[in-house]
This record gives sequence, structure tokens and C-alpha cells, in this order.
Amino acid sequence: MKTVSSLSDLRAARLSLKGTVALVPTMGYLHEGHLSLIRQAKADCERVIVSIFVNPTQFGPNEDLSNYPRDLERDLNLIQPLGVDLAWTPSAEVMYPPGYQTWVEVEALSRPLEGAMRPGHFRGVTTVMAKLFNAAQPDKAYFGQKDAQQAAVIRQMTRDLNFPIEIVICPTMREADGLAMSSRNEYLNADERQAATVLFRALSAAKEAYEAGEREGEAIRRKMKEVLVREPLAQMQYVSCADYDTLEELAVIKGKVLLSMAVFFGKTRLIDNFVVG
Ligand code: AMP
Repeated sequence: MKTVSSLSDLRAARLSLKGTVALVPTMGYLHEGHLSLIRQAKADCERVIVSIFVNPTQFGPNEDLSNYPRDLERDLNLIQPLGVDLAWTPSAEVMYPPGYQTWVEVEALSRPLEGAMRPGHFRGVTTVMAKLFNAAQPDKAYFGQKDAQQAAVIRQMTRDLNFPIEIVICPTMREADGLAMSSRNEYLNADERQAATVLFRALSAAKEAYEAGEREGEAIRRKMKEVLVREPLAQMQYVSCADYDTLEELAVIKGKVLLSMAVFFGKTRLIDNFVVG
């Protein structure tokens, strides 16, 4: 496995990769969720590039950019045995040199849910993703269903900007008790870690209601809230029952639906989702 940081080294290394090339973009501090994307990429493509970059432009001013967990050596040791060809670890200066002034923005899909709670977040995500795509020139790029809106926004951007890249969405990897794997789980203390299963429990309750025939969006949202309020360490930020394609809140459920939520445990903000229908 080759590791490169500069754009010129990345380009030279990319030119030497023949056959179909996968890109798995990450912010590092890798866990089994990331590794599952890499395994899928490896199964589908002849060559795999993993980028590790904590993208400053997708963090708000009061978010966790400076505390975001980082351990590059550990990450490289985790991905090497998976047969990754190229690890790309650019610095913020490489991605955003002085004078940087170009942004990529997806409009409607970026507005609700995470976009409403984290102004500017998706502008940072789509900008960095367009830059990663341009530099790495992959045939396919791999993302997790865990970040459902991010996947939808990137799919839209790829289509709108004519990137000749197939976007592949992989299932959410979970701990044995249902908690979705996330680099941010690292912030939780023991009590919060236990309480954090409430996201899975609330989503499961909503799914059960759906499967029992409930089709009123508000009743499904209420179901999730009822479970969340019973967990004293959990501070709900939002729950949503939205159309899978448009991400608009539903009064009456039809077709494929995204059930999602954001919940604080102290300063740690976790998100999770299920797709039903
Ligand atoms: P991140 O490093 O958090 O930016 O995540 C990098 C990629 O891994 C994104 O496409 C995420 O959606 C995906 N990912 C994160 N957590 C999980 C998980 N638990 N299961 C599957 N994919 C995940």
C-alpha cells in the first residue's frame, strides 16, 4: 500500500493504477463501518483508494473539528491488510490553499434534517467530495447508509455535475447492542455509551409501528420521541419521518421512507436512521 499526501503524488499514483478504481472517502479514526465499505470496494473493483481527511469546511464554528479523533498510524495499519492500493492523506493546506474560493452546493436536498441543524455542513461535504472525485478520478465511490442524507446529497451532486462515477451505498454497521458504529462514539462515557442504544431502540419502535400498519408520519415521529424521552441522558435534536428521495417530512407514509434522528449525549451528537417501505 502506497501512502501519499500531496496532489502531485496522488496524481502520479493514480495514473499508475490500471483497471476499475474505487474511492472510499473517510475522515479517519476508522472502525468496522469504514472497513465494510473498503471490503465492498475491494470486491467490486480492481484497485482501491482510501482518502483520510478531516474536512474542516464541513464543521460549524461550534462543532468538534479540533477534538475530532485522529490516529493516522492506526488507520493505515487497519486498512493495509484489506488490500488497499493507495491511501491519500492530504492536509487542509493541500485541499484549501490560501485564497481558496470555490464551493459546490446542492440546493433542496441539503436543506432539511442535518442541513437545517448544521448550516453550511453539506456545502463543505459536497465541495470536498467534488475535489476528491476530481483528484482521484474513481469509477465508483463508496458511502455508508449511516449518513443517509449525505449519501443522497452526493448522489445528486454526482448526477448534476456529470461526474462519471457510480455512487455505491453500503449498509450501516452496528455494535452488538444496535448502536451504529461512529468515530464520535469515542466521545461517550460509559453511562452515555449505554444510553446511546436509545437511537436504535427508537428507530426499532418506529419500524415496528410501520410494520403493524401505521401510516401517519406524525404517529411514527411520536413513537420515536416517546422512546427518546424515557432516556434521561439523551437530548433529542430532531426526529424525522421523510420521503426517501426528497427528504420532505411526510404527513401520510407512501413508498420508501427514511426514519432518522439526531440526539445529544452531553456534547456528543449522534445520528442514525432506518429505511422502511
Ligand atoms: P466518516 O469518516 O464518518 O466521514 O465516514 C466515512 C464513510 O463511512 C461515510 O460514507 C460514512 O457514511 C461511512 N460510515 C460511517 N459509519 C458507518 C457505519 N456504522 N456503517 C457503514 N458506513 C459507515
